[in-house]
Amino acid sequence: MSIEVSALNVFYGDFHALHDVSLHVPERSMTGIVGANGHGKSTLLKAICGLLRPRSGTITWRGERIDGLDAPDLVARGIVHVAEARHLFVDMTVRENLMLGAYATRDRAAVRARLDRVFALYPRLAERQGQVAGTLSGGEAQMLALGRGMMAGAELMAIDEPSLGLAPALTELMLDTIAAINAAGTTILLVEQSLPLIAGRVSPVYEIEEGKVRPAGDGEGAGA
Ligand code: ATP
Repeated sequence: MSIEVSALNVFYGDFHALHDVSLHVPERSMTGIVGANGHGKSTLLKAICGLLRPRSGTITWRGERIDGLDAPDLVARGIVHVAEARHLFVDMTVRENLMLGAYATRDRAAVRARLDRVFALYPRLAERQGQVAGTLSGGEAQMLALGRGMMAGAELMAIDEPSLGLAPALTELMLDTIAAINAAGTTILLVEQSLPLIAGRVSPVYEIEEGKVRPAGDGEGAGA
């Protein structure tokens, strides 16, 4: 198993944002989490990626306890958070944003190979390497956010709402590229608002409602 979350509780001050959340992310799966605005999707991804510290519960990565570790320690293990595209460095170029994704990697040949993969998957980014990120279209910015995650050498990519603000055709294209990243060996944890958007692409799939998580649909998420 890639990630196992067990009885996780997260608070913002007195506000209880995640209630006894348990889920698993099988190795090389594309696992989905769906839920409406404000029900705790981003909070869950941040807790898994070391950006928020849970009050109780455990998170393991390939059997190792990782709750309590910070994001840089998790990036070093290959666990990478892909935030909504608005978290890019807007004054820096496409290429600079990508290279920042690889900040923890010393091996130049590996960085070069990752950059080649990003440009093969997103030719638009290759064309716009010198453009500042703040002037990219919504779709291009989302490609850059995903490309930055690839540059980090992600073995698990936790992706927060890649469809946000995109037209339906562009959303499908984005999901196709995420499926390609998955097919190349990266485990994906994908958060979206609507199940129909990603049904058929993800398994297992979980629903989150008011900070509580359960397998979606007819229990498909419980077994895998
Ligand atoms: P969205 O899709 O709108 O981002 P979400 O499902 O990702 O929604 P979260 O961002 O995880 O939801 O927020 C879950 C709850 O926690 C919300 O009620 C939100 O207001 C609250 N919350 C999130 N961040 C903080 C914070 N830093 N301080 C206090 N409350 C917060």
